[in-house]
Amino acid sequence: MTRLDEKARALAEVAEEVARCKKCRLWSSRTNSVPGHGNQDADVMFIGEAPGYNEDLEGKPFVGVAGKFLDQLLGLAGLKRSEVFITNVLKCRPPRNRDPLPDEVEACGPYLERQISIIRPKLVVCLGRHSASYVLSRGGVRVRSKPGGISISAVRGQVFKACFEGLAFLIMPTYHPAAGLYNPKLKDKLMEDFVSIGRVLMGIREGSIPI
Ligand code: URA
Ligand code: SF4
Repeated sequence: MTRLDEKARALAEVAEEVARCKKCRLWSSRTNSVPGHGNQDADVMFIGEAPGYNEDLEGKPFVGVAGKFLDQLLGLAGLKRSEVFITNVLKCRPPRNRDPLPDEVEACGPYLERQISIIRPKLVVCLGRHSASYVLSRGGVRVRSKPGGISISAVRGQVFKACFEGLAFLIMPTYHPAAGLYNPKLKDKLMEDFVSIGRVLMGIREGSIPI
């Protein structure tokens, strides 16, 4: 088997386990699990929070309004969906799109970690506070946090060096695309961050930005 076949097989295995998973309460209300979607050989992964209404119906991440906006943002970074991998911290939809609960993140996080280990991205973009908080912490990056968790405004747009199970990569947190849909100031910052994601990726690919 080639390396690509192995990656595809390993990702499919994660998706199959997710589809059968009952490790947290969210299995009972899902229509479909949403394991993630995209290019198994991507050098950049985008990680959101959890599936919403449309994602639960379709089984694919970011297919609703926030997803349309994410496509525009990807364009600012010079990226197409077909060349990136997109997933979420939680693979099943929380009822009424409420915030993920800590025990759900703990139960579901290992699937995301396996996906990162299989894909081996150079850059991981965290969309929103829940994703940033989990990925920074698992990547060994310590940032100051308040009792309610990290402040996404304090870390967004910055590039952090991370290491997870021997794999070195960069993390850039930004706002969740849905936040940009109702707040024009955040929309401007999201757009700025995606332009900078394009630059960082170019630097990584050319070798001027070390991992
Ligand atoms: N919001 C997310 O965080 N993820 C999705 O897949 C869709 C909306
Ligand atoms: Fe399993 Fe994750 Fe779905 Fe919970 S959210 S049931 S841990 S796949």
